[in-house]
Amino acid sequence: MKSVGIIGWRGMVGSVLLKRMQEEKDFSKIIPYFFSTSQSGQNGPIINNTLSKNLKDAYNINSLQEMDIIITCQGSAYTEKIYPQLRNNNWKGYWIDAASTLRMENDSIIILDPVNLNIINNALDKGIKTFVGGNCTVSLMLMALGGLFSNNLIDWISVSTYQAASGAGSRYVVELLKQMGCLYSVVAEKLSDQSCSILDIEKKVTLESHSKNFPSENFSVPLAASLIPWIDIEMKNGQSREEWKGQAETNKILGLKKQVLIDGTCVRISSIRCHSQSFLIKLNKDISLESIRKIIVNHNQWVNIIPNHMQETLYNLTPSAVTGTLNIPIGRLRKLSMGNRYLSAFTVGDQLLWGAAEPLRRMLNLLINI
Ligand code: NAP
Repeated sequence: MKSVGIIGWRGMVGSVLLKRMQEEKDFSKIIPYFFSTSQSGQNGPIINNTLSKNLKDAYNINSLQEMDIIITCQGSAYTEKIYPQLRNNNWKGYWIDAASTLRMENDSIIILDPVNLNIINNALDKGIKTFVGGNCTVSLMLMALGGLFSNNLIDWISVSTYQAASGAGSRYVVELLKQMGCLYSVVAEKLSDQSCSILDIEKKVTLESHSKNFPSENFSVPLAASLIPWIDIEMKNGQSREEWKGQAETNKILGLKKQVLIDGTCVRISSIRCHSQSFLIKLNKDISLESIRKIIVNHNQWVNIIPNHMQETLYNLTPSAVTGTLNIPIGRLRKLSMGNRYLSAFTVGDQLLWGAAEPLRRMLNLLINI
């Protein structure tokens, strides 16, 4: 059995990864070693009701070098520091990473096996050893629209995203919930007083969200009862880096020679785990909605079509309906008034599962059997 070093397992992505690995009994196929950047020597996690061995030091290159496979959800700073040291020390093991640092490197593959298993297998044959999970929004888009891509039906995509707080990290989720709590507490009494004017309530909520004490250290501004139309750093061309990743990563994941153009606006909203995306897709030929639905749903076992009706949409196509599941619903499918080649679609996905932990877990399983 292969020795697998697991780093970043305490974080949000790492915790979801461990949960999924237990559900799928992955721990029976490996010899796991848990590492920490801050708690080496302390107790490891409890896996299948058994306490793991004590935590190893995630900065100890000698310990890391003993691993056949390293899977890390620790973040970019860790990857930037440790990965070059390991490779320079001639470590030949497999590196599976959630961080973005190595995604666009020539000798790394962005992994999403329901979409690019052929590319992953080719890379393994060629001796590639570095496999990186994609950007959450990109992976979720490809899980939903994979059929249209694999049938070469897409000319370009304009996208608006509605991204969950968890995409920014655990501290941000905590802050969002604190913001919600503050807004509620300033009007809690008034809400049960039927004579109270709604405009008075709204004013109190707005004043609270603008107050100096409103918790916004991480987001910088209120997210509860608001939204933030900017995610990640600013690029020179006016895009945010999150928006830049849409086209760059998609084309790398699919190994496309002729680039599919993808652009739009990425927006942070107050959902917790699920990202949603609204697409305007320019098809390169007129194809019926019925054929489109078949092509989409035949691509992978997780995508499912939500009929374009109000009740089905309300109950099946929201972050609240999808959170904690591997389902990738796609709905609001219709041809737009611009013409028969213009398709609208809306999808939701749990960004901690298909957007982060699940592609890593599945890559680990591919490597276990090598
Ligand atoms: P995170 O929750 O901030 O956890 C990262 C590390 O912080 C943990 O492994 C842990 O390392 C340390 N930590 C310190 N205090 C902690 C506490 N109280 N609870 C838990 N962990 C604590 O990071 P993340 O959101 O999982 O993201 C990890 C990487 O995945 C990043 O590179 C991110 O860009 C990437 N990613 C994230 C998402 C997402 O949805 N968040 C999606 C795709 C990719 P030690 O045990 O070593 O102290």
